Amino acid sequence: MKLVMFDMDGTLTDGFAIAENCYVLAIEQALNLPGVKTEWATYTHTTASFCLEEIVRRARGTPPTAAESRAVQARMVSLMADITKRTGRCTREIPGAAACLRELQRRGYAIAIASGDWEATAHHKFKSAGIPFNGLPAAFCDLAHPRTDIMRAALARAAAHHGRERFDRITYVGDAAWDVRACRELGWPLVGVVAGEFSAQLPALGVTHTVPHYLDFDAFLAALESAKIPRTVPA
Ligand SMILES: [Mg+2]
Repeated sequence: MKLVMFDMDGTLTDGFAIAENCYVLAIEQALNLPGVKTEWATYTHTTASFCLEEIVRRARGTPPTAAESRAVQARMVSLMADITKRTGRCTREIPGAAACLRELQRRGYAIAIASGDWEATAHHKFKSAGIPFNGLPAAFCDLAHPRTDIMRAALARAAAHHGRERFDRITYVGDAAWDVRACRELGWPLVGVVAGEFSAQLPALGVTHTVPHYLDFDAFLAALESAKIPRTVPA
């Protein structure tokens, strides 16, 4: 059995919450901390939980409490819901993503989710985008900061879910530079989704196969089967 593990933001769902600045606004409003730095690639780990810790630590020298983190997550969900109520805009799937997950499962692939978002905000996005996530083995940044640890946790959950010790092949599907680094570190092949802001970057980072969306299932499947571990490129 082969495992396909997906990132969420920019991979299965579009950047609605990012474009609407919901994460930053949630921190500013829930914790009263203005002026959040948004160059995410400059943070050691680009996950919602780690960036929140860094932001709060820089502002006041101590990390957020668990209650503060939950308050930020709740505020983020309500900001996303408010925008939808006011404007009708919401998190959407990358075209074909939901159908692609169903088709992969129908063909006997194991599916898992590993996202740098929180479980609570991720569930809101999946629901809004119509992605069938219920019952899928998944890991989020509530568990760990480094993306590689989140991916390992999702792998362990997928293995337990399917009652296996290992998979014949593990392929990750992601959209950002940090996904490439994580796959290089774990030695996992990567298919890049070049739908958003990192489109031009991925091939330059050594990603062998990319897709713009999932509408051409056969093309995606071919990329899954032939993708390589991102090669190291000279700095
Ligand atoms: Mg992403």
